Amino acid sequence: MKDSPFFYSQEIAQVHIDRWSKGGVVLAGDAAYCASPYSGMGISGGLVGAHVLAGEINRSPGDLPTALAAYERVLRPFVDEIQGEVNPRILRVGMPLSKHAIAAFRNATALACFLHIPDLVARMSKEDSGGDWQLPLHEAA
Ligand SMILES: Cc1cc2nc3c(=O)[nH]c(=O)nc-3n(C[C@H](O)[C@H](O)[C@H](O)COP(=O)(O)OP(=O)(O)OC[C@H]3O[C@@H](n4cnc5c(N)ncnc54)[C@H](O)[C@@H]3O)c2cc1C
Repeated sequence: MKDSPFFYSQEIAQVHIDRWSKGGVVLAGDAAYCASPYSGMGISGGLVGAHVLAGEINRSPGDLPTALAAYERVLRPFVDEIQGEVNPRILRVGMPLSKHAIAAFRNATALACFLHIPDLVARMSKEDSGGDWQLPLHEAA
């Protein structure tokens, strides 16, 4: 870190807000419900949120409060699913702090790679992030 000419560091965070809109101002994507790089699904969250928001505004033309309330009601379960995929306790295991813990972590990950364990985990992991939540289909206006 001290010798690197291009050392970069940034905190990893999730965004949890009670309401995603106030008046005519609406948040979507990371600004409203960042799930963090550790969960993945950030791009999907932004796109799905924009889709739901546009659909609800279309469904209630001229009634923004109703549209924004529906946006939150419809999207919250999806956001809860993608944010819930991060377990801080498990993440902490991957961020050892002492010299010995870092060495142990590196040895363990080297052994795991030698045994192709990441490939196995990737093959066995589910591809249905977002759980049972169904993307609402909107009719064209
Ligand atoms: C290291 C890393 C790895 C990731 N990996 C994945 C991944 O594998 N899969 C995945 O799905 N997601 C991943 N993500 C998350 C994903 O990048 C974000 O969830 C996604 O980009 C959020 O989109 P957004 O449009 O909400 O916000 P952003 O992409 O952050 O867009 C916000 C934009 O607003 C601009 N802006 C900010 N302030 C102002 C201002 N005052 N005026 C005008 N413009 C402004 C910014 O410059 C930016 O262009 C990763 C994120 C990081 C950091």
